[in-house]
Amino acid sequence: MVEKKKQIPGFSQGVRRNASTRTIKMVQPICPNSKQDMIRTPEGRYIPNPEPDPTRQSCQEDRDENGNSRIGWWNACEERGHNPYFTKRVWYSSEDIFDENDVMTGTKRVRHEIERPNISQVAANIRVNSGRGPLIKQRASGFKRLADLGYEEVCEFRNCQNPATVTSAVGGFCGNEHAQLCAADFFGVYDYQVPNSGVLANQEIIDNGRRRKSRQFMAEAAEVAQARPIK
Ligand SMILES: [Zn+2]
Ligand SMILES: [Zn+2]
Repeated sequence: MVEKKKQIPGFSQGVRRNASTRTIKMVQPICPNSKQDMIRTPEGRYIPNPEPDPTRQSCQEDRDENGNSRIGWWNACEERGHNPYFTKRVWYSSEDIFDENDVMTGTKRVRHEIERPNISQVAANIRVNSGRGPLIKQRASGFKRLADLGYEEVCEFRNCQNPATVTSAVGGFCGNEHAQLCAADFFGVYDYQVPNSGVLANQEIIDNGRRRKSRQFMAEAAEVAQARPIK
């Protein structure tokens, strides 16, 4: 049996129709020790630890002659068991304890923990980096594809992290609309705007014109996108 892939705990925020750049969602390595060691004060504030743990060495501090983190630091980080592709968050809550008569007898402290992949979106636009952004990030910065970590790939529309359900001439997307908008961007299909001319026109004519142009645009976009359902 094929093991079912996991889904990233993704959410899609700031998805804008007119920002149809293609981005690949990847997992970025971050050494947990590269984060500043914070402590909680008695008042509940978080401040940098004034006595940081000297054994807490960040793998990203292994630098080359130019001061950049050395290529491959993520392998050493994994070998040390630092789990750089995931970030763990721990928090506590208190729960009331009741006896058999439903009388509250006290509270207990409950520990919660979640571990999430460090999702980062990388532009894969021919105009930004010849479309080689993801490959460069993989080789030079240790980023991984979602599939490499057992996750389903998600939509390649900027900021969209919905599951990919269609494949197209320009990548995998959550549906036809995002595939078409990215294809339009990639192939330079122009999104026509009907200007408000100085001529007095009735609003219905303007609206009809806009709708017609918009249909025309989506039809051309659909033609270049060649989207089809996955599987
Ligand atoms: Zn590390
Ligand atoms: Zn999408």
